[in-house]
Amino acid sequence: MPEPTYPLLLIDRLRMETDGDGVTTLVAGAGCPLKCRYCLNKSVLTRSPEPVTARELYDRLKIDDLYFLATGGGPTFGGGESLLHADFIARFREVCGPGWRIYAETSLNVAPEAVRTAAKCVDGFIVDIKTADADIYRAYTGGEAAPALSNLGLLLSLVPPERVRVRVPLIPGYNDEADRLKTEKTVRALGAENVELFDYVIR
Ligand code: SF4
Repeated sequence: MPEPTYPLLLIDRLRMETDGDGVTTLVAGAGCPLKCRYCLNKSVLTRSPEPVTARELYDRLKIDDLYFLATGGGPTFGGGESLLHADFIARFREVCGPGWRIYAETSLNVAPEAVRTAAKCVDGFIVDIKTADADIYRAYTGGEAAPALSNLGLLLSLVPPERVRVRVPLIPGYNDEADRLKTEKTVRALGAENVELFDYVIR
């Protein structure tokens, strides 16, 4: 199998309590199957990225090795849809070893195989589930809610619930509090325990 590469857009070091425990480094990559109306990264996601191998990425991140080990932090794969690069993350885990905690920001709107691969190598998942309502999801993202919800159930069957943080947004102009509470109920019924309600802030 050819060495997988990651379409690197940017590295943002020394983040605290934003996208994982401890000190994290955001590793933003290109590509996302959704087209969310309020996506903050739309212009970035289509920019021409730099493909890096797992070893090359490790060499750039290891400057923070001590911070990661001391705080229980590590790299957070995000930017676009991190699990489009699940094979790369699995390879990165082989290169970085078990000491770093790896986080992934995801909508879970990916192939189930990617979820199975990520479950074996990612320590913490930050899931932006958006809404469980099929029509609202379609209107807001251009995609379907069903695969994301089905993958959430799959993920929670593969890893303990404390490794999965599900974020349920209020999306101005698209859903309301009743929809958000219904979505919360749906994700809890799928086994999510760490559920966070939040509001999208539109600038
Ligand atoms: S899932 Fe995230 S990265 Fe993808 S379009 Fe939506 S907000 Fe942007």
